[in-house]
Amino acid sequence: MAMAKIIDGKKIAEELLKSVRADAEKLNAEGTKPCLAVIIAGENPASKVYVRNKKLTCERVGIRSLEFALPEETTQAELLALVEKLNNDPSVHGILCQHPLPGHLDERKVFDAISPSKDVDAFHPITVGRVVIGNAALLPCTPAGVMEMLRHEGISVPGKRCVVIGRSNIVGKPMALMLLAADGTVTVCHSKTVNLKELTLQADILVCAAGIRGLVTADMIKPGAAVIDVSINRDGEGKLCGDVDFNAALNVAGAITPVPGGVGPMTIAMLMRNTILSCKLQVTGCNLG
Ligand code: NAD
Repeated sequence: MAMAKIIDGKKIAEELLKSVRADAEKLNAEGTKPCLAVIIAGENPASKVYVRNKKLTCERVGIRSLEFALPEETTQAELLALVEKLNNDPSVHGILCQHPLPGHLDERKVFDAISPSKDVDAFHPITVGRVVIGNAALLPCTPAGVMEMLRHEGISVPGKRCVVIGRSNIVGKPMALMLLAADGTVTVCHSKTVNLKELTLQADILVCAAGIRGLVTADMIKPGAAVIDVSINRDGEGKLCGDVDFNAALNVAGAITPVPGGVGPMTIAMLMRNTILSCKLQVTGCNLG
């Protein structure tokens, strides 16, 4: 059997960022500088890397970025006051609060406080509801990035058996909803699923987002399937890897995303696209609340 096509997320993301940059330039020329505000609380090293990458990408595409790095001991009230201030600031078009927050803070309350018009991570219940209904303007970045990859690679979804491993609010659940909206026949697997292999073997499109290295072995993949590995884990040597046994899966899958260089870059590109979209909507006076 032929080797799987390796889907180059970095390259697809670069193409997306080019069009984002053109949009940002146009908005700028018309007198609006698109602006993303990023809130980070505490000292989580992975969060710091993500926030830094988001900031650098903003700079590259001509989006102004504001970073609010709050100390570990920040209170819920202080955090909510900052969100309120950013909600009311017309020069800010997108707001995101980097997940996870320190344990004493209620992340859900913060996501709920972000104005739906500026909800570029798409975590607000109104935005989530629109994703369920299938008419959201702002889509959750990681699953939207996966859909964009499938589109780019010409992998059609209608009628396909899609299996999503993971049911988190950030990845698994919205991923399943978006595949469903695209007319896939969707199965969601999670930590209590019995006989995962029996289900994954049916998948024409397999999205892996459990965050467990080595969970998906080559014998769990249907020959020719598209395998999208969302997870970011570390292997024994500290190198980044996903859930899928990548090298072995290459001999079975039809197409596969690497980690790193797969879904990760797409997520940031979709965040930039959402920021431009929320900026455009605000300029035209469209209120998503
Ligand atoms: P999470 O821990 O919130 O969710 C993991 C999900 O996997 C849960 O729903 C759980 O039920 C399921 N699960 C756990 N063990 C399982 C098992 N043995 N079999 C089947 N399902 C099982 O994590 P998350 O926030 O959804 O993130 C998932 C992974 O994706 C993480 O590795 C995270 O780092 C990565 N991630 C990557 C990006 C990106 O841009 N590439 C973005 C967000 C998250």
